[in-house]
Amino acid sequence: MKCNICSNSEGVHICNVNRTYGKGEELLVIENVPIISCPHSGESYMTAETLQKIEQVKLNCKIFAVARFVDVVSLNEDNAAISL
Ligand SMILES: [Zn+2]
Repeated sequence: MKCNICSNSEGVHICNVNRTYGKGEELLVIENVPIISCPHSGESYMTAETLQKIEQVKLNCKIFAVARFVDVVSLNEDNAAISL
């Protein structure tokens, strides 16, 4: 696989990450988003195809999404229970 930015292929790898979009009640988590990571240009990016898929998912998230109960922790100042 070749980096889109610097055309190097050595060490270029894909990591699947979870991305979150929106917030609160509208929070959408997309799992296994492939991020291409290049050690030469230091860039981490999604392909145009991935971005397109994400747009599709966001537009149709009610169709694609599976509702799951997740634990959400907010690191804001109101959460006084978290101490370092
Ligand atoms: Zn690169």
